[in-house]
Amino acid sequence: MEAGLEAVIRALVAARWPFRIHATYDETIERFLTVFERVNREVPFAGLRWFLDHAETISEKNIERTRALGGGIAIQHRMAYQGEYFIRRYGRAAAHAVPPIKRMLAAGIPVGAGTDGTRVASYHPWTCLYWLVTGKTVGGTPVTSPENLLSREEALRLYTTGSAWFSGEAGKKGTLAPGQFADLAVLSDDYFTCADERIRRIESVLTICDGRIVYAAGEFAALNPPLPPISPDWSPVNRYGGYANADRPAHFRTPVFGADGRLWELGCGCAA
Ligand SMILES: [Zn+2]
Repeated sequence: MEAGLEAVIRALVAARWPFRIHATYDETIERFLTVFERVNREVPFAGLRWFLDHAETISEKNIERTRALGGGIAIQHRMAYQGEYFIRRYGRAAAHAVPPIKRMLAAGIPVGAGTDGTRVASYHPWTCLYWLVTGKTVGGTPVTSPENLLSREEALRLYTTGSAWFSGEAGKKGTLAPGQFADLAVLSDDYFTCADERIRRIESVLTICDGRIVYAAGEFAALNPPLPPISPDWSPVNRYGGYANADRPAHFRTPVFGADGRLWELGCGCAA
């Protein structure tokens, strides 16, 4: 692995191409960093933007090595879905800071929250913010220890200004301030004061993107622009009612069949 990786990293750094590399466990990160340091001695990273994805069990030592090479860490809320499984496999104590976000922030390296293109976590930012501040899985299991929980403000910063660094858009996105994009959403609840359990049920009631209203609901519903037809028309998107569905009766979820006749989603089968 090392030889192949070294050639790729050397080519990327020489061309000044920012890169990201996915590594969940410290054992993998250890090997990656050894390669990066070797390349850095010959072709200096010198401020090149690069980052690790996941880094769920990264050690203190490897956080420091990442910092020394100017790297960042992109985290996702995989543990919100897989926390119980992680505890079963590695024990409760090992799950107390997965990933160790507070240590990353204390080291002063860029940290952004996201989804890994929905490969390891849902696109839903409120599920992530709920997990960051409560430390609980979607099933209600406490995973993160209290001293590793983030404040609501810290959590929000990871998802906004934090992530802007990763796309090279620091200073353009992530804050409502003069000179930055004015994309914004009016929310159904006050994220800073609502009850913990409300955080994961927050929705936009007005979304403005690129100067246009692209979504409106509730008291702003009259401003909602018409949606283009969903294509293909059998897509589950046509039936799925959004995360708010979870608060509706289970029988709301009717069976949905794909064009090939396979079942996409099954209702609960209750008599109501
Ligand atoms: Zn990944």
